[in-house]
Amino acid sequence: MSEHHHGHHHHDHGDASEGRLLMVFALNACFTVVEFVGGYLTQSTAIMADAVHDLGDTLAIASALILNRLGHRQSDANFTYGYRRLSLFGALFNAIVLVVGCLWILSEALQRFDQAILPNAQGMLWLAMLGVVVNGAAALRLRSGKTMNERVLNWHLLEDMLGWVVVLVAAIVLHFVQWTWLDPALSVAFSLFILFNVLRSLKETLRLFAQATPDNELSLQVKQALSGIEQVQSLHHFHMWSLDGDKHVVSAHIKLNSSDTASHIPVKREISALLKPFNIHHTTFELELADEHCRMHSKES
Ligand SMILES: [Zn+2]
Ligand SMILES: [Zn+2]
Ligand SMILES: [Zn+2]
Repeated sequence: MSEHHHGHHHHDHGDASEGRLLMVFALNACFTVVEFVGGYLTQSTAIMADAVHDLGDTLAIASALILNRLGHRQSDANFTYGYRRLSLFGALFNAIVLVVGCLWILSEALQRFDQAILPNAQGMLWLAMLGVVVNGAAALRLRSGKTMNERVLNWHLLEDMLGWVVVLVAAIVLHFVQWTWLDPALSVAFSLFILFNVLRSLKETLRLFAQATPDNELSLQVKQALSGIEQVQSLHHFHMWSLDGDKHVVSAHIKLNSSDTASHIPVKREISALLKPFNIHHTTFELELADEHCRMHSKES
């Protein structure tokens, strides 16, 4: 059995969603450049750390935009599962950029502790105010977004704004006291926070590349649903993996109690009904009669 969801999906608000994403992308890309230049001019490693983070955001939004387009494309003879899995390459590329960026910031910050350089607090203050406004505006802009992506992004933008509030406070503090450790300390904290999140999502991406089971709970539920069918004796060669963490693929061999091929039709019908709530993207099952040997004589399960 195989469920096909390969057709064109028409989303009513696809254009509005893309418009909002484009807007946020342009804002982020411009601001990232401003941050790198500003961070360099003010000699603030905290702002540089923010710039690296925003570079990652910009890349993530860019790959979301590309996938918005490609994800709708039909599967073809070369890419029989469609193009969704390409998002993994975007995620991997983004993770590498962020890890390299964070290591660079960390090494810069560690040097700063020795050099005792005081960043330009006035410049930091202006950049931080701009950061709060830009991130706040982007978050407001996405607040009308309904898709899961937009809501995640919205929450993320609020987090970014909080980061800028911290820089703002630091800039004010540096107006009054000459704490040379404050700016590198902030950038170390920012970098470690970014690294922590990157490594977590990188682990997820690598698991998907390795075709690990995306959701053990779901896998168990699907197995139980299939095994629970009255005419089903047992399962083997059960596989669950995921195209992109969201669209899952399941295949299995299903051994039946009966030796009558007539049992195939009601079993298939029941499989369809039972799996419907799980919303699995692509399923393939091989039915084996009670007296039938498995075509694949391996011990793999
Ligand atoms: Zn198919
Ligand atoms: Zn961000
Ligand atoms: Zn088999």
